[in-house]
Amino acid sequence: MSYWLQVVVATPAHSAIARPLTYKSEVLLCAGTLVRVPLGKREVLGVVWSVLPDSGELPEAQARSITSVLDGLAPLAANWRKLVTFTAGYYQRSLGEVALSALPPQLRELTAVQLARRLKRPTVDTSGPQDTSDLIALNTDQLRVISEFDAENLGNKRPALLFGATGSGKTEVYLRIAARVLAQDPAAQVMVMVPEINLTPQLQARFEARFAHLGRERVVALHSGLTPAQRLKSWLAAHAGQARLVLGTRMAVLASMPHLRLLVVDEEHDPSYKQQEGARYSARDLAVYRAKLETEEAEPSQGTPQVCRVMLGSATPSLESWQATLTGRYQRLTMSERIGADAPSDQTTSLGATFQGRLPNVRRVDMNHQPKHCVIAPPLLAAISERVAHGEQSLIFLNRRGYAPVLACHDCDWKSECPHCSAYRVFHKIDRTLRCHHCGFTERVPRACPNCGNIDIAPVGRGTERLEEHLSELLADVTRPDGTAVRVSRIDADTTRLKGALESQLASVHAGEVDVLVGTQMIAKGHDFRHITLVAAINPDGALFSSDFRAPERLFSLLMQAAGRAGRDARHSAASEMWVQTFHPAHPLFAALRAHDYPAFAQAQLRERAQSGLPPFSAQALVRAEAHTQELAQGFLTAASAAAHADFGPSEGWSDLLKQVTLYPAVPMSIQRVANVERAQMLVESPSRAALQRFLSGWQSVLHATRAQPASKGLIRWAVDVDPLAI
Ligand code: ADP
Ligand code: ZN
Ligand code: ZN
Repeated sequence: MSYWLQVVVATPAHSAIARPLTYKSEVLLCAGTLVRVPLGKREVLGVVWSVLPDSGELPEAQARSITSVLDGLAPLAANWRKLVTFTAGYYQRSLGEVALSALPPQLRELTAVQLARRLKRPTVDTSGPQDTSDLIALNTDQLRVISEFDAENLGNKRPALLFGATGSGKTEVYLRIAARVLAQDPAAQVMVMVPEINLTPQLQARFEARFAHLGRERVVALHSGLTPAQRLKSWLAAHAGQARLVLGTRMAVLASMPHLRLLVVDEEHDPSYKQQEGARYSARDLAVYRAKLETEEAEPSQGTPQVCRVMLGSATPSLESWQATLTGRYQRLTMSERIGADAPSDQTTSLGATFQGRLPNVRRVDMNHQPKHCVIAPPLLAAISERVAHGEQSLIFLNRRGYAPVLACHDCDWKSECPHCSAYRVFHKIDRTLRCHHCGFTERVPRACPNCGNIDIAPVGRGTERLEEHLSELLADVTRPDGTAVRVSRIDADTTRLKGALESQLASVHAGEVDVLVGTQMIAKGHDFRHITLVAAINPDGALFSSDFRAPERLFSLLMQAAGRAGRDARHSAASEMWVQTFHPAHPLFAALRAHDYPAFAQAQLRERAQSGLPPFSAQALVRAEAHTQELAQGFLTAASAAAHADFGPSEGWSDLLKQVTLYPAVPMSIQRVANVERAQMLVESPSRAALQRFLSGWQSVLHATRAQPASKGLIRWAVDVDPLAI
């Protein structure tokens, strides 16, 4: 007697075998079981997706047998399979790609025997009672949001958005609600997601310390910085239910956690929650979906239905999440004041105004009234010098790494373009290279202009490296309180390339070994710098007039976050400042920043978005195509668009659906050529998310068919990006 199983294996997104494959098995296996199966000449890992009924009658005599069963592992839960199915469908990818990429890579290489050996290692239960002696007393804001959150556990169970200023104690709230979920149910699991673990080592340490009483190996991390072996270990612990708390980046959202009861998404607005390749999912959105799934589909245990809540947190929520709180789809929880602020606490209902307490003063420098070509305006320089003289730290941030964005010849107008991309290579003085930040192409700086031979080629514009140099010169005469010279340092992707470099650089900032820290947005995020009292954004204007409608939202959040770096220590905060150099000081974005008034900013932005029918008032998808010529890339998109209108006449409801969906013309991407590949994109938009989803699933086969046309020969790849973050 044989059984027929539908097995999902890793398949490229657009291959013909994107469906589950049928295999034979002598034993009956249940759905979710991990197996190894033959595929062509290889043997691969697969997940049993379903068991075919009445297998005896199926004409699948040619189906091959599964090779082995990874029987040490519990089958993947039905909810996990539902989550994967949803993700694949929503983001227009194959089931196999999503399912297998959600498993740790090392699992693919292990044989059943190797795995069994690994699973045999005993985990010692070292749990003990929680040491509550040094738990801080929650403040009234924290107590209130926790009780508001709890109030929905039995009722609405809506996703919650914790809107709290930087330093208002959000992390403490996460720790408390997690602790309670874990204490209430000895099996319960909690997932806490952060944008980037490397940037927040303190957070990980805080969680590990707080839950140390659960025992070793109960708190695990899951992110791409782990070795394959570590990642497998964390995943196995989560899957087996041994890990009670998983702290991870976006990839963690698809981890197998059979007893998940709470998801926390910290800094929910952060763009790094969106996967930028393969299945381009939003981990934040999937977290919301997953919580709903785990709640609705939960088996009642001892009569009480199980609940899995999700809490998103941010000082500057994404406009999507904020809008959801305005319509009541999400529950809004507000914490207005920074810990340590002395402001009266009776203002908690009037939103923006209450954010004043002890947040740094925002000062705009009108660059129209500063000396021409000055990089640091004289009043800002004076302010930095004063901080140095007082032994306080300043953080200067500029969103461009390298020395100068281009190298140019003033005689013939040669510029350091990348030969492979439609972009300039950036001059890095430290190793005298020109580096393309898109394709990585790196060359030594030429001695003379490659075009006319002029030896006088010069950097144009400014990156962090040049800013660091410039500031060192400008501050050369300034001394610290003990009479020693000022210490300027830089943190960006270039200075932190080596493993451990970021940690040691951060440590030296914390240790007070740096007076002026220069860096990219990397330093604006997450770090709990205690002694920084001045933060300055040197050149934030670009985002005010960007073609990307999300640029102002990102700038506002970055500046608010950067402002949050200043004065975290209450001893200093009375005098802490955020400086913004701008040619547009009257811009409403800066006015809202000055008032620390995210709600006002959000309201203005949402009004504009509503008027132009942009997200969250519409749903978008981008189709991207890459080819050796722009013509071919655009041609593919145009043909697929035309076919969408032509080919579906008979299909039920298709023409009605098309009335709700707009397909825009194909255009070159903003960086049109990268590594000699031409890139084009096409925007698809609908006021209805459901309509867009139905359109995209119907259109899939059209795109495949268009790809197969002779006219598409030479197309390198295409992909759909649902809810794209950058247009
Ligand atoms: P956020 O996550 O909102 O930036 P944190 O939770 O990190 O804020 O809190 C900021 C600082 O205040 C941390 O050092 C934290 O330990 C401390 N803190 C949090 N809650 C309280 C409280 N109720 N009483 C005293 N200190 C607190
Ligand atoms: Zn020249
Ligand atoms: Zn390049």
